[in-house]
Amino acid sequence: MRVPDEKIQKMKDILEKRGGKEVTWAEASDASTRLSSLMELLLKHAQEDWKREQKLKEYPKGFSLGGVGYSCFICGQGTSLNGNWYDKYGIKCMVCQDSINRKEIPASLSKDKESWYSKYDLEGSFNLKAPTLRGWIKRGIIKARTLTYNGKGVHYQVFLIKDNKGFLPPKHMVKNQFVSEEIDGKIWHHSEPWYKFVDPFEHLKDYGIMKYMSYTEVEK
Ligand SMILES: [Zn+2]
Repeated sequence: MRVPDEKIQKMKDILEKRGGKEVTWAEASDASTRLSSLMELLLKHAQEDWKREQKLKEYPKGFSLGGVGYSCFICGQGTSLNGNWYDKYGIKCMVCQDSINRKEIPASLSKDKESWYSKYDLEGSFNLKAPTLRGWIKRGIIKARTLTYNGKGVHYQVFLIKDNKGFLPPKHMVKNQFVSEEIDGKIWHHSEPWYKFVDPFEHLKDYGIMKYMSYTEVEK
């Protein structure tokens, strides 16, 4: 993409004023090109969003978006060619959409991610491994909703907070936190699990899941 010279000059002036030091033409040109590409991308996205909104007015029950590789708002998998459904709840793969149509899960889950845990969320927040979780489901300790393939098998499972009232806490209570650390004069950011910042048994004393939790030393 070719950026006009007067725009590059403007960028040079701005960068020099902000940084308090001279900026070469090549640097200003590079920054201008990157900014233009970003603006173009944002505009393209805005146009796509607008078009989808307009089409939704025409087809309120939704429609399939052309192409491949959209992420499903429920299971997170990339969608295959035309294998997606878009409606006011966002983009879903066809397996999840069919599950919604069969009322295996409420449609609102794709917009309201705070209302449920995936098994990855449970593993991330509680270090809960798949075999333990399967055991819990079997014993009725936790209630899962299963998204099936046409009524059979397991495509994906979700754990609604309202299905597990008093057992699962609101997700904001068990979110990872970002920590900034200075090492050798450089600032590094990383995330740490919630239980490093509070006494987990006190923090979640009102939630049943803590009855099944214990401290384990993790080898580093
Ligand atoms: Zn899906």
